[in-house]
Formats: sequence, structure tokens, C-alpha cells
Amino acid sequence: TETHDVVLVGGGSAGIATAASLLKRRPGLDIVVIEPRDQHYYQPGWTLVGGGVFERSDTERPMSEIMPKGVRWVRAAVAAFEPEANQVVLEDGARLKYRTLVAAPGIKLDWDRIEGLRETLGRNGVTSNYRFEMAPYTWELIQTLRDGTALFTQPPMPIKCAGAPQKAMYLACDYWRRHGRLDDIDVHFLNAGPVLFGVEDYVPALMTYVERYGIDLDFKENLVAVDGAAKVATFEVTTADGTTKPVRRAFDMIHVCPPQSAPDFVRDSPLAGDGGWIDVSPETLQHSRFGNIFGLGDACSAPNAKTAAAVRKQAPVVAVNILNVLDGKSPRAVYDGYGSCPLTVERGKIVLAEFGYGGKLLPTFPSWLVNGRKPTRLAWLLKEKLLPDIYWDLMLKGREWLAGPILLPHEPAEHAAQEACDTDG
Ligand code: FAD
Repeated sequence: TETHDVVLVGGGSAGIATAASLLKRRPGLDIVVIEPRDQHYYQPGWTLVGGGVFERSDTERPMSEIMPKGVRWVRAAVAAFEPEANQVVLEDGARLKYRTLVAAPGIKLDWDRIEGLRETLGRNGVTSNYRFEMAPYTWELIQTLRDGTALFTQPPMPIKCAGAPQKAMYLACDYWRRHGRLDDIDVHFLNAGPVLFGVEDYVPALMTYVERYGIDLDFKENLVAVDGAAKVATFEVTTADGTTKPVRRAFDMIHVCPPQSAPDFVRDSPLAGDGGWIDVSPETLQHSRFGNIFGLGDACSAPNAKTAAAVRKQAPVVAVNILNVLDGKSPRAVYDGYGSCPLTVERGKIVLAEFGYGGKLLPTFPSWLVNGRKPTRLAWLLKEKLLPDIYWDLMLKGREWLAGPILLPHEPAEHAAQEACDTDG
């Protein structure tokens, strides 16, 4: 069988951005993208669909349209990795051979880990912005609820876009406040974890909104079951002495963020490390045991915030390093852990969290323009008007605006300068 220069598993944010970045750097490269879906989704838009700002259709495009010209698209799902033989196995048993592999199959949404959830999702006041079909139902519930109890849940970390569960809640509260209903609605944020947001710097601004909206924060409460017909949710609550007990809460509406994990076929493969994630170097994104394999996006082990914003920075790093490996060199590009979470605290204002490894703040803009620790209108405009186009027209096309990779200086200087020019594309 034919051996391809690059085989890419997954045509999501990470797979497409990496393929495009590779082709920008080396036109004509032999790349195969393996992706089973017909549609590609702009998932960061789902929060705004659930908040009544975007239409669902704004967030999807046919895979055939966004697949970069020049790559071969294999419309199938990968069932297994065989790194010792430099090949992947498809669900129908076919094998594809590669010189280098990029694994980017995303994260698994584990709806079935919550008893009764799948049966009632989309009915009985049970919704989730984590599903394309369901985000419009969130907006419908927000508009129709006049009084009662609204629950918003957050599972244990890591999840993709850790801020999304509370973004849905703030947009709901803002709507109820503007329509004079908030006093009649009891809002609870039920968080399996111990903190409102993982990076402390942003918590004060978020707490201002929690107080303004009169939200009850309940930490260490993990959703385990939903009875849609009875409109009751069961949480496993961890008490101060470390024991757990079940607590039942009645609801009129509940927004569920599902538990998340590495995809099964990754977890059960030789690529998996701790927790089942693709075991990569946090800097070069190269696999810790197989030098010709790279992993990025939600499925990899790097401890960044799992976001499309992170992928925007990771894709050029992987592209440069894949070309280094194909050329028989060591990987030179490094990733700083950048991730971003635009927290929609009210309609028209966003707290723009941008940070890297260890919670180090990495703002894109000077603080006089956008102070990330404060809610700003400019950050909302960025999210509503600019980021979708940046995603479709720059990131997925390999035009690396503000995303050029950091290069290690161990190559001749002129080489490094050439790479720097290329990234302006
Ligand atoms: P995905 O984009 O999910 O793509 C994975 C792809 O792999 C899919 O196309 C899938 O079909 C494919 N695949 C799966 N299994 C296989 C297989 N066996 N074989 C082949 N292909 C396979 N990010 C932000 O930056 N800002 C935000 O505001 C933001 N908000 C969000 C809000 C919500 C509600 C959600 C759900 C996500 C949000 N994100 C946000 C996160 C962002 O969407 C993800 O981090 C990003 O899409 C990760 O890219 P990925 O390529 O790793 O995964």
C-alpha cells in the first residue's frame, strides 16, 4: 500500500487548521485527512445560539467546503492506531500507512454517564449547548421560563471550553433580568469542582455577575441522574469530611454540560498516556514515545484550556514540527499553552480570559484596549463579529494571524527568518 507523508485523524478545528497550515508551508505535500462527518461545526458559536444571538446554521458548514484544496479526504472513522507499523486501521478494517501522523479526534461527550439524560435531552426542560441540535432549545427555554428553578451544571475537569457552562447561565440571567423575571427565578450553578473558574484573576469579575444575578453557587455537586418526566436531578455531593451523599433537586429547566473524556479508541491505544489522552510533549506536541506522531486539540494531554483558541496556536506548531520530522530534523516549534475563554457575562459584554500554562495571563491586546479582567464591549464585538470569520477564513485556511509559532533557535538564523515570513501568509 501507498505511504502518505501525513495522515491526519479528525477534520475538526485542529485537523483542518493543521492541514491548511502544512499546505501553506509546503504546497503539494501528500496529506490524507480521515473524518467521518459531513458537517464541520464552529462550536464556540453554540453559546451564542443558546443565548439567542446566532442562528444554528451560522455554526455549520459542509466538510467538503472547508477541506483544504489538495488534501485527500477519507470519509471514515479510525478504529485503531498501530504506531509500530506506522499505520491506522479504519472501522471497515482498511489500513492507511504514513510517514508522520497527526491525531486530533477531539473529546468524547459522555452523555450516558448521567442516568436518564439521553432519553430526556431536548424535552422536559432539559437542554445543553454542547450539542448543535440542542442549542436552540436552550434559547427557547430561556424565553419561555417565567418563574421557578433553573439549574446549570458543570462536570469534573477537564472539559472543552471550561467557561461554557457558566456562559449559558449568565446569558439566561441577563435575559430574565431585562424582562423583569429574575426575582421569580431561582438560579443555581452546580459545579463538580471547587472553584468558579480555574484562573483566579478572572474570578472577581465573574463574582460581580454571580451577585448581580443572585446566583446560588454550589460547589462539589456532581450531576449523576436526570428524571425528565418528574423534573428532578440527582447530584452526588462531596461533604467537608470527604464522604458523598445524593441530593435531589427539582427544576423547571436544566442546562447540562456532559462529563467528558478521551475518545475510547484513543484511550485503548498505544498513543494513550495518563487519563487516556494522547501523550504529547506540552511544548512541541510530539508524542512522548513515537517521534513521528503529533497530537493536538481536545484529545491531547497538554494541560492547556481545551479551546479552539488553543488550537489556533497549536496548529502552526504541529505543522512546523511535522515538516522538521519529514526532513529528518528535530522539532523546533514550541507552544506556550495559550488558550482563551470569552466569558459572556451579559449580552454585549465579555470577560476575555486569555492564559497559558500555569495560569499565566497571555493577553492579545494591550490592557487599555481590552482589559481581560473586566467585562468589555470590545471583547463582545470580537466574539460576535470577528472571531467566526477569523475561524473560517484565517485559522481553517492556514493564515496565521497572531498565531505564528515560537521557534527554538537551534537552526541557522536565516532559516528561522524564512519561517517567520511564511507565518504571515
Ligand atoms: P473537534 O473540533 O471537536 O473535532 C474533532 C473531529 O474529530 C470531529 O470532526 C470528529 O468527527 C472527528 N473524529 C472523532 N472521532 C474520530 C475517529 N474515530 N476517526 C476520525 N475522526 C474522528 N473554544 C474557544 O476557543 N472559544 C469558545 O468560546 C468555545 N466555546 C465552546 C462552547 C461549546 C458549547 C463547545 C462545545 C465548545 C467550545 N469551544 C470553544 C471549544 C472548541 O470548540 C474545541 O476546543 C475545539 O473544537 C477543539 O478542536 P478539535 O479539533 O480538537 O476537536
